[in-house]
Amino acid sequence: MRILLLGGTADGRELAAALGAAGVDLVTSVAGRTSRATGTRVGGFGGVDGLIDYLLTNQIDAVVDATHPFASTMTANAAQACAATGVPLLRFTRPSWADHRHSADWIWVPDHDAAAEVAARAPGRVLLSVGRQPLASYRGLDDALARVAEWQGGEVSPGTRILQARGPFSFDAELALLSDEKITILVSKDSGGVENSAKLDAAAQLGVPVVMIARPPLPAGLQEVSSIDDVLHWVEAAHR
Ligand code: NAP
Repeated sequence: MRILLLGGTADGRELAAALGAAGVDLVTSVAGRTSRATGTRVGGFGGVDGLIDYLLTNQIDAVVDATHPFASTMTANAAQACAATGVPLLRFTRPSWADHRHSADWIWVPDHDAAAEVAARAPGRVLLSVGRQPLASYRGLDDALARVAEWQGGEVSPGTRILQARGPFSFDAELALLSDEKITILVSKDSGGVENSAKLDAAAQLGVPVVMIARPPLPAGLQEVSSIDDVLHWVEAAHR
């Protein structure tokens, strides 16, 4: 049984190791956007049609989509290609921060444009913890610090500074960043999981408001799990 694992995240790497250890015949695919891209195939498939072709040519029996919760194009393409070919598909994502102990205190918004509007109305300096790609949505901000793992250039406002730093960050490091940089509002995506959540606790401790961008909705009917064990059980069941 051959599985295509759509990766590009730390969770994807962890899952690939677990599936490999379980003896699954695995192709790990990454988009190849960063210098750390590792996978057994790198680069886009060429949209839905390209992915359909890939699934059929490479005799893929099942697909596990372990891309980032905000990689909605890849997730939508996988859902369409799997529906068209009858290849089973499972979505694997880390648990949302909707259940985080401070989540009720945050300002939840549906997308980056809405987050930028809220941030623009708040006085002071914004910490943008949203990655590199959506920064164009925030070009109206007068005073912002955008933390990105890898800066490859792009459009930002004159008042935006780029801070290149790769997580995970400790609670103390996040506390120091928010205080030293005099951050008055934090904008984050609901990436979820434990690894990158120290900023949320640090913001709560300092009373810094958090604008949280909700996850894009999943394609209808897509089965989602958030533990590696659940993926292993699904693969086992699909194999029978
Ligand atoms: P996206 O908008 O959903 O995808 C854009 C295009 O990139 C897809 O249509 C596909 O190209 C290609 N692609 C994405 N993931 C791929 C994969 N695993 N293997 C092969 N091709 C892939 O995704 P994105 O937000 O740009 O993110 C790109 C990658 O970075 C994803 O793999 C994601 O897991 C990772 N990542 C994203 C974020 C985030 O916040 N969005 C954060 C951390 C990591 P084709 O149409 O040509 O097939």
